[in-house]
Amino acid sequence: MISLVTAGKVLWVLHVVGWYVLRWPFDRRARKLNLTVDRRKGADTARLAVSLTGLGIIPAIYVMTGQPRFASYPASAILFLFGIASGIGSLILFRLTHKALGKMWSVSLQLKHDHKLITTGIYKYLRHPMYTAFWLMALTQALLLPNYIAGLAGIVGFGYLFFSRIGPEEAMLQEAFGEEYSRYRARTWRVLPYIY
Ligand code: SAH
Repeated sequence: MISLVTAGKVLWVLHVVGWYVLRWPFDRRARKLNLTVDRRKGADTARLAVSLTGLGIIPAIYVMTGQPRFASYPASAILFLFGIASGIGSLILFRLTHKALGKMWSVSLQLKHDHKLITTGIYKYLRHPMYTAFWLMALTQALLLPNYIAGLAGIVGFGYLFFSRIGPEEAMLQEAFGEEYSRYRARTWRVLPYIY
């Protein structure tokens, strides 16, 4: 029998690999298009680095070495079950968002040549469903890794990206789509219906 801790680590790795596999074909296609706006520079690169550290590097170090050991606490099967549920939810949402955004997706704040505002599919209900999926991914990490630092690093790292990017992203889309974006904004929630 493998220990609960090991099971949690394996599930976390599967979750991240699943996310990558879902995203890869879209990433390849989206990268081929020409850009008209590219706000990746500086601030956004730093945001991506902080998020990658929290969602990827710190938990990967924990999975491989068990460090930082002092921050570990006893694993709980109940938390793992919630982690599996949120992990599955996150992957489903990633799939829906990539399908709806298609070639309009990019890793940072960019607009493609001939960019279209997507308001269909899951984007009918939320303006930032992919960020909802990332929040669920960070929650999954916290539930599957029984370590205060490695588990919570995703929430902190992605949280930084989220709160510092959502304003500039909406400003960029507002500038590009004007009235169309104002109307879209008025009828949708950002990441969580009835809350935010
Ligand atoms: N914030 C969105 C998209 C993340 S991908 C979400 O969480 O689902 C980031 C890129 O998507 C941004 O650079 C922006 O150009 C593009 N984007 C965001 N919302 C969009 C929309 N409704 N239609 C088209 N492109 C969008």
